[in-house]
Amino acid sequence: MRVVGGIIGLGLGLAYAFFSAYFFGAMPAGTSVAALAPIVGPLAPFLAPVLILLQVVATAIAMPLAGAMLVWLLVTLLLTWAIYAIANAIYVASAAFTASSSIPAVTPLAPPAGEQFFLGIMIGAAAGINAVFWLLAGQLPRTSFTPPYVAWNFILALTALIPFLAVVAAISLSRVYQTFVGWFGILMPYSWLATGVGLLLFIITLPIALGQSGAAALRFDFTTATVELSINLSAISGFSGGFSLGNFTFLMPGPAMQTPFNAPGLSSHETGHTLNTAVLGGAFLWVNAIDENLPGRIGRNSWGEMLAESHFPRPGFPYSPLWTA
Ligand SMILES: [Zn+2]
Repeated sequence: MRVVGGIIGLGLGLAYAFFSAYFFGAMPAGTSVAALAPIVGPLAPFLAPVLILLQVVATAIAMPLAGAMLVWLLVTLLLTWAIYAIANAIYVASAAFTASSSIPAVTPLAPPAGEQFFLGIMIGAAAGINAVFWLLAGQLPRTSFTPPYVAWNFILALTALIPFLAVVAAISLSRVYQTFVGWFGILMPYSWLATGVGLLLFIITLPIALGQSGAAALRFDFTTATVELSINLSAISGFSGGFSLGNFTFLMPGPAMQTPFNAPGLSSHETGHTLNTAVLGGAFLWVNAIDENLPGRIGRNSWGEMLAESHFPRPGFPYSPLWTA
C-alpha cells in the first residue's frame, strides 16, 4: 500500500508544486484567475476559488511575494497536518502500535494498510515537490515553468528519486540506503525548510556550545550526514532532551545527553528525524514539532515521533516500521 500511495503522492506533489510555482510567478504582477485556465484545464473552476482566496490574503499583507510565501507555507502545513492526523489516528488504533511499544518486546506486527498508504502519499508528495523546486531553480529568474530546463537542474531534480525509493519497505529498512537518504537529504530543497533553520541556529549557537564543552559539544554522524550540537541554554530555556532541524540536531543541556548513533537512544532518535525530513519534507518536521507538543498530547504517540523512533527503537517507545521492521 505504501507504493500505491507513493505513486499517487508523487503525482499530487508534482501538481501541487507546479501550481504553487504558477501562484508565485503570477502574484507580484497581479494575476487574473482567467490566466489559470489554459494551464490547469478542466480543473480551473475548482482551483479558482483557492487562487482568489490566496490572492486576497497575499494582497492584504502589503508585501506580495513575502505574503504569498507565507500563505503557501500555511497551506502546505495544513495539508500536511491533515494527512499526518489521519495516518496518526489509524496507526494508534492498530495492533501494530500496541505491539511496538510492548515490554518485553514482541514480534513486530505488519503496520495497517491505511497508515502505509498515507506514508506513501507523504513520501511521494515530498519527492514531487523536491523535483519541481530543482526544475524551477534551473530557469531563474524566469518564473514560468515552461521547458526547456537547464540540464544540470534536470539531473538534480532526478535525485529526488533517491528519497522516493523509501516507498518500498524492503529498501527503506536498509542501513546502506538510509545513509544515501541522509546525504541526499542535503540536496533536497524541501528539506531546507527545516535544515535552513537548523544551519542558522547552528551558526548562532556553535560558539556558545564550544565555550561550554569544547570539542565534545560537536559530533558528526556519517551514517545520516547529521551535525549534532550539545548545548546548555538554561538561561533562556529549561528544556532537556533533543530536537532535530533537518541535517542538524541539538541536544540539551550538554554532551552527557549523547548516545551512540547506531544504537537505541536520544541521538539516533534525532537522526531518525533527519531521515524523516529527507523523505517526507521540511513541512512534515514542523507539523511533527507542533503536533507532539499540543496540550494533552502524548508526544511519543505523534506519528512523526513513531517514524523517527523506528530508526533504532527503544524499549517501550511505540514506533512505525519505516527505518526498522
Ligand atoms: Zn522526536
